[in-house]
Amino acid sequence: MAFTMALAEKLENVDLSADILRRAVPQMSSLGIPVTPDNYAVWYEYFLESDLDLKRAIDRLISNKVEFTPEVNASLYKNFLQEQSPEAIQNIQIETQILINSLLNKVGQMSDGTKGFSSTLSTFEEDLAATPDIETLEKMINGLMNEVETVIKVNSEMEENLNAMTKEVNVLKDEMENLNVVAMTDQLTSLHNRRAFDSEIQHQISHYEETQERCSLLIVDIDNFKPFNDVHGHLVGDKVLAYVALALKQAVRGDDFVARYGGDEFVVLLPNTHFHDALQVAKNLRARVAERKLSIGKDNKLSLGAVTVSIGLTSLHEGDTHKSFFDRADHALLQAKNDGRNCVRGE
Ligand code: GH3
Ligand code: MG
Repeated sequence: MAFTMALAEKLENVDLSADILRRAVPQMSSLGIPVTPDNYAVWYEYFLESDLDLKRAIDRLISNKVEFTPEVNASLYKNFLQEQSPEAIQNIQIETQILINSLLNKVGQMSDGTKGFSSTLSTFEEDLAATPDIETLEKMINGLMNEVETVIKVNSEMEENLNAMTKEVNVLKDEMENLNVVAMTDQLTSLHNRRAFDSEIQHQISHYEETQERCSLLIVDIDNFKPFNDVHGHLVGDKVLAYVALALKQAVRGDDFVARYGGDEFVVLLPNTHFHDALQVAKNLRARVAERKLSIGKDNKLSLGAVTVSIGLTSLHEGDTHKSFFDRADHALLQAKNDGRNCVRGE
């Protein structure tokens, strides 16, 4: 797959990416396909010709004159790109970002060059006007003047094209930022995902070093979650995950950071919160999750009973790294599990 290329290799392939952009964007607009990141990723692949199934599928659609409706575009993306790992989506992002930046640079250089050329030509024009009026020279001047005008006209048309292209690229850049939001979000629960958490925890550690403001970390793990899946199936398991996610989100303050770390494990970062306050938050969270009995199915006939969580808690210490901070909370979580679950333990 092209998107798994090493970054260095990608940088060398900026020209290839720019070339694909030049071909893909006009082709997409002639087929009425909006240049969104998802659609662009599909057409990038198409012109790269690295996925022959994708190429064949699109060629077939074109030769059968099938309209590229939003549904068709979405299914191309889903079938050929989305099935890949999240890393692949991040790679698409990096790759597209690189090509956009390189293109913006090129566009910048080209319009600068155009301006430079026009000004050289107008200087030349002035110099010639200053020379004594010999007849032949005057003819030359006239001839040159015509040429100068033509060149200026062509260049200003070119500049218009470049401006249009810059606009298009800027739109694409905005779309990339939206994609960035998607890459940081857990699809099932709409909470932040692990990648977003990793970046936030790093941010909190730097913040502590600057301001001495201590944050606390909770790791929340659903108790005996596996049986929900085993007995009722994965869809029910997913509903339980969504229930816990919502309960966590509703129970904390707006500036607290809740993420799904993976599987049935959630993390909550409480900025500017000391251990004892964080302990209170953790106890409230535990109680809040356990207080409701979940039921599902038609008319909510099937009772799942109470869902409970175990919570490990710690606060940031002097000299903590991402790992030492996280490991301490994880160790506390293990203690909570060993102490019979549905409880909070802190270190
Ligand atoms: P414990 O109290 O010790 O935490 O027991 P547990 O059963 O919760 O422990 P374990 O961590 O082994 O179980 C987690 C399960 O979560 C295993 C895995 O199949 C399930 N799981 C992970 N991701 C998902 C998901 O996205 N959806 C569903 N339905 N299940 C998931
Ligand atoms: Mg669990």
